[in-house]
Amino acid sequence: MVQNMINIGDIEKFSIVDFPSKMAVVVFMQGCPWRCPFCYNQTLQNPHIEGNAEWDNLVHLLEHRKGMIDAVVFSGGEPLMQDSLPEAIDAVRQMEFEVGLHTGGYRPEALQKVLDKVVWVGFDIKAPLHAERYKKATGNAGDVEKVKQSLQMLLEAKIHFECRTTCDPRILDIADIYEIADTLSGLGVEEYYIQKYRPIRTDRVTQDSDCEKFFKDEKLLAYLKQKFKIFDVRK
Ligand code: SF4
Repeated sequence: MVQNMINIGDIEKFSIVDFPSKMAVVVFMQGCPWRCPFCYNQTLQNPHIEGNAEWDNLVHLLEHRKGMIDAVVFSGGEPLMQDSLPEAIDAVRQMEFEVGLHTGGYRPEALQKVLDKVVWVGFDIKAPLHAERYKKATGNAGDVEKVKQSLQMLLEAKIHFECRTTCDPRILDIADIYEIADTLSGLGVEEYYIQKYRPIRTDRVTQDSDCEKFFKDEKLLAYLKQKFKIFDVRK
């Protein structure tokens, strides 16, 4: 039974920004193997604590939102950490909701199990795809090869997906965004977004002007526009 296996950190009852062109419920899955310095969801990182929501809460919500909600997005945390994700997605699809996924691609074998169940994936690219850079961005050097495998799977599956990067000036510079863009477009990624980092509560150093520099660099923005079929900024 899904309710005995899934650990939900929280549920957002209504979102118009987490699934393109869909009104969605967002399920924040508890647990993440990474420790990105810009993480807005640090309470979701620990996989060993019980989240704040139950599976039954989600089912109840969806039963009462039929006709108002198009989709459910499994977000995190890192949804691919939980082995029960495929069953959870199946259950939501049986209720006739479309399903999306937010992931950093840390576990390709888990991604493989849900690829034919989801209609859209938001794929986080934390840094240029090198071990040392990913270590700085996520706290785990070993995972960059898994990220590359997951990305390749998405490309081969021909599923609708986007790549996006949170531009935290403590770990990325403008040259890094050029490098990420070159790598992604070289692989065949068509849709890319850069997202503004808003300093988290514990970050008392970063200034807004540091965060803004990515979005004020007209040369960079023009480059990204011509590199991808779809590119935009999220501020
Ligand atoms: S992958 Fe997401 S949830 Fe995990 S630490 Fe990074 S930002 Fe936080």
